[in-house]
Amino acid sequence: MQVENYDFVVVGGGIFGCYAALHLAGRGAKVAILEKEARLFQKASLVNQARLHSGYHYPRSVATAAMSDEHKTRFTEEHRAFVNHTFEKFYAIDRYGSFTDGPQFERFCGFLNIPCERVYDHKLFNFNRLEALYRTEEHSFDPVLLGNYYREKVENTSGITVFKNAQIQQASAQGNAWAIDLLVSGSKFQVSSDPLKVSSSESALETFNSPPSIYHLKLETNTVINATYAATNATNHVFGVNHLALTHEISEIAFVRSKQFGQRGLTVMDGPFGSIMPYGLSGLLSLSSVAYTHHKISFDAMPRFDCQMPETDPACRPEAPGICTDCARRPVSNAPKMMAQMQQYFEDSVQFTHLFSYYTIKSKLKASHIDDGRPTEISLLRESPRFFCLFAGKINSIYEVEKIG
Ligand SMILES: Cc1cc2nc3c(=O)[nH]c(=O)nc-3n(C[C@H](O)[C@H](O)[C@H](O)COP(=O)(O)OP(=O)(O)OC[C@H]3O[C@@H](n4cnc5c(N)ncnc54)[C@H](O)[C@@H]3O)c2cc1C
Repeated sequence: MQVENYDFVVVGGGIFGCYAALHLAGRGAKVAILEKEARLFQKASLVNQARLHSGYHYPRSVATAAMSDEHKTRFTEEHRAFVNHTFEKFYAIDRYGSFTDGPQFERFCGFLNIPCERVYDHKLFNFNRLEALYRTEEHSFDPVLLGNYYREKVENTSGITVFKNAQIQQASAQGNAWAIDLLVSGSKFQVSSDPLKVSSSESALETFNSPPSIYHLKLETNTVINATYAATNATNHVFGVNHLALTHEISEIAFVRSKQFGQRGLTVMDGPFGSIMPYGLSGLLSLSSVAYTHHKISFDAMPRFDCQMPETDPACRPEAPGICTDCARRPVSNAPKMMAQMQQYFEDSVQFTHLFSYYTIKSKLKASHIDDGRPTEISLLRESPRFFCLFAGKINSIYEVEKIG
């Protein structure tokens, strides 16, 4: 079997895996990205609400709020072409059942020093349901454009090799190195410093003439970075390191349009409410609701759901979750319920039309039940050979991976 050596092996090709690989390659390291699917950026990094968090969302977790705000400026500057910063964004407090109220929310924003201007009257909103409405400053990133950018970047950066359709068959610690047995379908492309020169683990003839093939490979590395989000514990398990305490939910993001609301955003705080806002620069609004976005929940270490049928469809198992949007057994959309819930905060003249929905597994630290926090955690779970587990809370916290050296 062919053996290849890398300084770092990053498991998972979402935004965190891609950013980690680019950061390390930029410092001269030779990096491999292993991605289970045929394409990078198909899961949480694509299916999310695209909120470029500024802190407002976490009145119960000052730590998450402060971390969002800390990274916002840098993320916006470095991804300017993929950020929608031109829309009006409102936060509101529901008059009934909220964990916060107007004065508390204002104090919280004051503490974080983030702008929040009280709006007493507005023709689009129903003040019978809203205790308070605030004009805030929150932007959204475009997950589709971000995906295109990062895919292009990792696949064209010298020092990074991307293995797609990659299955880790086995991993073992041998001295101070990991040995990883990999099964890959398709060709492996590694772009050298000369962008016209493509090298492949297969012969040049095979690469250009043959249909996708399946091949085995052994990778050796001193450092593995697990950036697989919903598959975090499955990957930890393969490498024989501890699990994180996680829960998993099959989640729906509904895409809607409204002639009357246009390209604005409203997030209702703090509890079982909802949010609607521009999905980056797409012209669509993404809609989510604490009560209806999450269809099924798994309290197992790995995401185990009754829709998985590993015997007939091995592409989605608790040990290797698949792409929910593409799955015939995805849940029936809750968009009508989400729209009905949000409708209560608007005047009757404002109407929403549902176009389609995306689904994915959302994983959370069990501890987040206490304060609804979404920290990004990087844990060194084994020192020699090294194994980092990177569990991502928010997209704009990608810079946390720079702590890995
Ligand atoms: C419904 C929802 C809404 C959200 N809203 C927001 C928001 O508004 N703003 C925000 O900042 N954040 C939001 N988040 C959180 C954010 O999307 C995630 O924190 C972030 O996308 C995680 O990125 P990632 O690269 O770690 O994971 P992913 O993008 O899921 O990437 C993990 C990759 O690992 C691959 N993989 C899995 N197992 C293996 C394996 N064994 N071998 C190889 N590859 C494997 C997967 O196929 C996938 O490509 C939301 C998340 C969800 C689910």
